[in-house]
Amino acid sequence: MKIYNSYTNELEEFKPIKPNNLSIYVCGPTVYNYIHIGNARPIILFDVLARYFKSLGYKINFVQNFTDIDDKIINRSNELNIKFNELSEKYIKAFLEDISNLNILEDVKRPKVSENMPEIIEMIQNLIDEGYAYESMGDVFFEVSKYSEYGKLSNQKIQDLEIGARVEENTNKKNPIDFALWKKMKEGEPYWDSPWSKGRPGWHIECSVMSKKYLGNNFDIHGGGIDLLFPHHENEIAQSRCSCHGENKFANYWMHNGFLEINGEKMSKSLGNYKLLRDILEKYDGSIIRLFMLSTHYRKPINFTLEGLDAAKRTISSIYDTLERYAKLEKDSNSNIEARNAIIEFEEKFKDAIEDDLNTPLAIASIHEFIKKINKLITIDSFKEIDYVVEKIKYYLEEVLGVKMKTNENNKLEEKLIELLNNIREEARKNRNFELSDLIRDELAKLGIKSIDGKVK
Ligand code: AMP
Ligand code: ZN
Repeated sequence: MKIYNSYTNELEEFKPIKPNNLSIYVCGPTVYNYIHIGNARPIILFDVLARYFKSLGYKINFVQNFTDIDDKIINRSNELNIKFNELSEKYIKAFLEDISNLNILEDVKRPKVSENMPEIIEMIQNLIDEGYAYESMGDVFFEVSKYSEYGKLSNQKIQDLEIGARVEENTNKKNPIDFALWKKMKEGEPYWDSPWSKGRPGWHIECSVMSKKYLGNNFDIHGGGIDLLFPHHENEIAQSRCSCHGENKFANYWMHNGFLEINGEKMSKSLGNYKLLRDILEKYDGSIIRLFMLSTHYRKPINFTLEGLDAAKRTISSIYDTLERYAKLEKDSNSNIEARNAIIEFEEKFKDAIEDDLNTPLAIASIHEFIKKINKLITIDSFKEIDYVVEKIKYYLEEVLGVKMKTNENNKLEEKLIELLNNIREEARKNRNFELSDLIRDELAKLGIKSIDGKVK
């Protein structure tokens, strides 16, 4: 497996620390709002990566944190006059609800900052003890100039950063490029006790602490969107490598996804050009969103349009129609050597594509190519390998890419359930039980289903 390592800027052969084990940390959401569809990109990307390794028989150790305390959360909860954790819990629940529609592997550890305060304080103390951090008026800062490798991930030199740094007023920092590890509380802010002040951690320290706690001092892959590369990931590296007497090697490979854009601009909450994932999910199945995202290589930008989603929807429908058609073909006991070869070739091409820095568009193309070949062979005659063809396509599409459409059977079941409810409603009307019949009508209406005189529209 080749992975583009953002730390070395090179395509590298992936070597796990422990054979057949993948340890991966992906920076998670700041939970002060619903996530937008751009935020779903790293979630889908790293899920496919984990799925592929799983398909190779790897044990996956996947950690994604929740940033449940920061300025945005404090400001928003103050605006709403609620506690910070009321707000964060609400959006953690919403996040989990949203991604439950994206067919994400469930075995992901999701620790929260607020549950890791003793460990955070311990690492900050360690950085002070080792001479990399200093306390100043209740705040604690990381002293960037003490870490000579600072800037390696983002290809910047400390001197250049110093020249470019904004001179802040009323700062307790020794140097403008130093960054906060601990922030003394301001009036009305939530706080935790610490040796330096009542306060809360800076943003970056949480990931150094939680990756160490759950994955140890050295793990395989660290991921996130490209916007996190600087300063967040650069600072994570500095904190982790400088703590624990340099024993902490931190991540071996760094992977960053490109942006999901809208009209050439990054989709972001601050620009206001976002579409919430949950709104899109009202109209499009999670499998469509996945196929749409995976149709572009993860390091390239994606231009988000509804037309793009519609196209992905058509593609999925067409693949499933084909699979259904194959499954219904009359079985022929003849073996077809060309079909056998096509299966082998497809598997090779699919795997080669994924192993080439997760080239999902090429992997998807290999499915189309395979179907085309099989279609040609079928026009001549059916053959006994056809079930195997269906199985293979389903496996790579659903288990590896995670693109699993709600089946037609599911849709048919839905129709039957609506019909059943409607019959019960009719029966209730006949028995003059209008309370029940109205309840059924209203509940169906909430789901966008109109029922008129027993007919469902
Ligand atoms: P945030 O809550 O803004 O920290 O974002 C959570 C994750 O989504 C991070 O890994 C970001 O890099 C990623 N992200 C945010 N916006 C986009 C976008 N427009 N396209 C792709 N990834 C994004
Ligand atoms: Zn992080």
